[in-house]
Amino acid sequence: MFLEGRLRGALLGLAVGDALGAAVEFRAPGSFEEVAGYRGGGPHGLGPGEWTDDTSMALALADSIVHAGWDLDDQARRYVAWRRDGKYSVNDRCFDIGITVGSALSRFEQTGDARNAASRDERSSGNGSIMRLAPVPIRFIGLFPKRIEDLLRYAAESSLPTHASPQCLSACRYMTLLICGLIDGEARGDVLSPDWWALRELRRIEPLHPAVDEIASGSFRRKRPPDIRGSGYVVHCLEAALWAFHDAHTFRQAVLRAVNLGDDADTTGAVCGQFAGAYWGLSGIPTAWRRDLARRDMIDDALDGLLRAGRDDLHF
Ligand code: MG
Ligand code: MG
Repeated sequence: MFLEGRLRGALLGLAVGDALGAAVEFRAPGSFEEVAGYRGGGPHGLGPGEWTDDTSMALALADSIVHAGWDLDDQARRYVAWRRDGKYSVNDRCFDIGITVGSALSRFEQTGDARNAASRDERSSGNGSIMRLAPVPIRFIGLFPKRIEDLLRYAAESSLPTHASPQCLSACRYMTLLICGLIDGEARGDVLSPDWWALRELRRIEPLHPAVDEIASGSFRRKRPPDIRGSGYVVHCLEAALWAFHDAHTFRQAVLRAVNLGDDADTTGAVCGQFAGAYWGLSGIPTAWRRDLARRDMIDDALDGLLRAGRDDLHF
């Protein structure tokens, strides 16, 4: 029961964080009235509780995992369906799509090869593959803790169709491990420790990119804003989300800290929401935020499918 609540919390938390940040996306820190709940507006003119590309891409990934198992080309085709037709969108339109995602999907449409569609350049290290990540740990939690190598391979591969830089692959591997540890009920302090047993195992299998390893070594505990930044760079984004989460007392506090960094607020919120949702579970997300989230049915359908797909691996 607790396990199912944490599994569901990871994806619902992603969508809630995205929706909370959407109204202040691209705003400089301190230049807006502090976010305390859903509000309309923002660069995409959304209504309160509506979410953006972060959640759309997570829903596309979840749909692919449920219907095609593990197939990167199928994942990319569903991202294309979102971009072209607005499928998986809260309002049937594709909006907020990043440059990195756009060019990778165009390349995929030419070549049909998702594994090699995205740039591997370190400068193409946006946060677009960690923002949508939750379906991977939710579906493959059964591989934790015994088959970490397989779990991490899915994590890294999930990034390839749009974000193939070493930083992005490392961030997906580390973040998947953290979410699985939290869902599995390990203590937050242990999971976030630089000496966590599973992190040692990850490093033994393949070291993290140095910029991501710096986060894993605890940079988010030592820094404060403005050195903590909610930018679109995957390293900043992951660090900021962990800064907001690591010593928060509640889901609400963690996610509001994240979105109030402004800048790429929806995505910092979506990443923090995955950690916070995995840790505090569905019931830890404020009732009003669950109730007023737009198109909650789309999130629930994705979760039902993922949990069904993963149930054989689990011990419910
Ligand atoms: Mg977004
Ligand atoms: Mg964003």
